[in-house]
Amino acid sequence: MRLNGLAIRHFRNLGSQDLELPSEGVALIGDNAQGKSNFLEAIYYLETFRSFRGARDEQLVAFHEGVFRVAGTLQERDTGRSMKVAAAFEKKGKRKKVSVDGAEPDRMGDVLGRLAAVIFSPADVELVSGGPRERRRFLDIVLSLSEPGYLTALQDYRKILVRRNASLKDGQPSSVVVAWDSGLVGSGARVMRARRDWIEQRCGAFRDYYQEVSGGIGAQMRYRPSVTLADAACKEDIALAFRDILAASGERERRMGTTVVGPHRDDLLLRLEDDAEGLDLRAYGSGGQRRTAALALRLVEARTIRETRERAPLILLDDVFAELDGGRRERVLALMEKEEMGQVVLTSPKESDVKIRKDSLPRWRIEAGRITA
Ligand code: ATP
Ligand code: MG
Repeated sequence: MRLNGLAIRHFRNLGSQDLELPSEGVALIGDNAQGKSNFLEAIYYLETFRSFRGARDEQLVAFHEGVFRVAGTLQERDTGRSMKVAAAFEKKGKRKKVSVDGAEPDRMGDVLGRLAAVIFSPADVELVSGGPRERRRFLDIVLSLSEPGYLTALQDYRKILVRRNASLKDGQPSSVVVAWDSGLVGSGARVMRARRDWIEQRCGAFRDYYQEVSGGIGAQMRYRPSVTLADAACKEDIALAFRDILAASGERERRMGTTVVGPHRDDLLLRLEDDAEGLDLRAYGSGGQRRTAALALRLVEARTIRETRERAPLILLDDVFAELDGGRRERVLALMEKEEMGQVVLTSPKESDVKIRKDSLPRWRIEAGRITA
């Protein structure tokens, strides 16, 4: 997918701008706090209709303005077919409006992922250093964008979990609590199966990417579900295992007043392959090793887009190479050249960091939110 045109209105500090993007992409150069990340945030908003930085929509509306809008014109590379994806948010009524070719979808899930974009940002290191919640969020976004039915299962699971937890917190009789179990188990098993399958299918790619960038030892990613699963468990096996452990946790969850097992307690383990045990990157990894693992996760995400959506992903790079050593930086760039990537939009405060695509990307500059070609 190629992003041809972008119209921005009152998104953060970007004011009102209509831009035409070169087909190979662009390097956006500017000092700190000029709006580089804001620009990528605006683009990626059209992929998930949320801030990639986890900001609330209210925060994205320019100060002293009531509404922001972002609209992108996309073009399919093979067919040449074009599509317009637009989003707007009104601060006062907290109203979000999303449209594809002018039509509003019934459900937001129907229009996610139109850009086929991946964003690499310095904050990605939190995927490795942060708690399990960060890694679950990563899995949920990747799977919502690539796995049909995942988002619905996840939303069902969350809704039921909230209600089940409310009955536990209120100390309701167990007949009331277990009334939620079959819904919880059904949607939860679907979520776990999708996470397990994705991780199993992609762990080889993760290892290879890590190794290529580090130029040395590899790393592995493993699913650590809160429900112990037998190898090759099918959906029914997963549901049975979940049901059993739920039944066995009755006493503990009454004590804690909350549901103590399920995919909301899953984790994704990331380990260095330096010996049989493997060192947990979260606890023992150096800064550079964690950044490398985070990059490898994003590269796996890009590959997932390539494979499931059969498109060269639009790559957004928010000043990501700054903190890598020279060798790693060279190897990531080489890897990105080698893999089939689509358009690249990268930001950097320094001219010298822009070496991707053999340094051939057109340069734009940004100052106080104003972009000039
Ligand atoms: P760095 O190189 O430090 O990462 P950057 O160019 O990526 O900088 P951004 O994060 O894109 O910087 O932009 C930061 C600027 O945007 C800040 O000056 C901030 O005040 C401004 N800003 C953030 N939100 C809004 C908003 N809702 N309205 C207006 N300006 C905003
Ligand atoms: Mg920034």
